[in-house]
Amino acid sequence: MELTPYYQKDIECLHCKLKFKTTKVRSKFIKVVEHDTDFRPIYENIEVNPLLYNTFVCEHCGFSFTEDFTKYFAPGIKEIIQEQIASKWTPRSFGNERSLEEGIMAYKLGILSGTLKKEKFVSIAGLALRTAWLYRFQDRNEDEIRFMEIARDRYADSYSNDDYNGTQMSETRILYLIAELSRKIGDIEYATRYFSKVIEKQNSSIEPKVIDMAKDRWQEIRARKEKEAL
Ligand SMILES: [Zn+2]
Repeated sequence: MELTPYYQKDIECLHCKLKFKTTKVRSKFIKVVEHDTDFRPIYENIEVNPLLYNTFVCEHCGFSFTEDFTKYFAPGIKEIIQEQIASKWTPRSFGNERSLEEGIMAYKLGILSGTLKKEKFVSIAGLALRTAWLYRFQDRNEDEIRFMEIARDRYADSYSNDDYNGTQMSETRILYLIAELSRKIGDIEYATRYFSKVIEKQNSSIEPKVIDMAKDRWQEIRARKEKEAL
């Protein structure tokens, strides 16, 4: 039997505790050939996009989450989720192969669920960034910029609240992302400020590649400014 890229997994909803199925991509089918300047992975096989499957959407109540979400709900939060999400939800499965539209919808539900649940800013930022990446596949520029701005703002919240500490996100990377997303949305002043913060870390950072990326972007900004001044 030929192995397909996809398999299904049972997930238990963090909110309503009911089980539902979600699709995952087998790791042997995932090969990254390069990354965009904001780390969006470009996969060798464009037919199989693992980015579409990070968010689990509960078909019973609509609550949507990723592996980064905690099991803990602060007092009163479940009631808010019940009112704002579950009571408005029409049962619908996101458990099969997803289109780009369904992938985007899943992330948006994840952003809403995570925001109501008060998940870490760094998790919300990651969901918004991935939403922007999916819009980039569709060449939907305005939507992409809207979600890059949300991601930038949440990464900035995460940096100032230090809530990325203990996650996979390093200080060098979060500063770089704040800078690069600012550059991409046209907020050059903010971008310049944060690229300098990354470059200041060059002697202490364990991520020389990210430091080099920051230097490249900084040069690009300078070259463009000089050109504009002519
Ligand atoms: Zn549920």
